[in-house]
Amino acid sequence: MQVSELRCRRCHEVKALEEFDRGFFQKQGYDIFCHDGRSEIARKRKSTRAWQQRKKLERMGQSVDSMPSGSA
Ligand SMILES: [Zn+2]
Repeated sequence: MQVSELRCRRCHEVKALEEFDRGFFQKQGYDIFCHDGRSEIARKRKSTRAWQQRKKLERMGQSVDSMPSGSA
């Protein structure tokens, strides 16, 4: 089935196929997010990742400072 437009799962707007990346893992052969949605997701993911990394470091630093005694 050939489609010329897709609805973006992020902004819920119907956009031309040029607005979408080819996503071979998707059933319709195109990404489910338009370029705008993609870049926004990438930006968010990046900041989330940085935040997670910081939390991880915090936790590691804490466990070094206060060694749990008794509980394995
Ligand atoms: Zn979109």
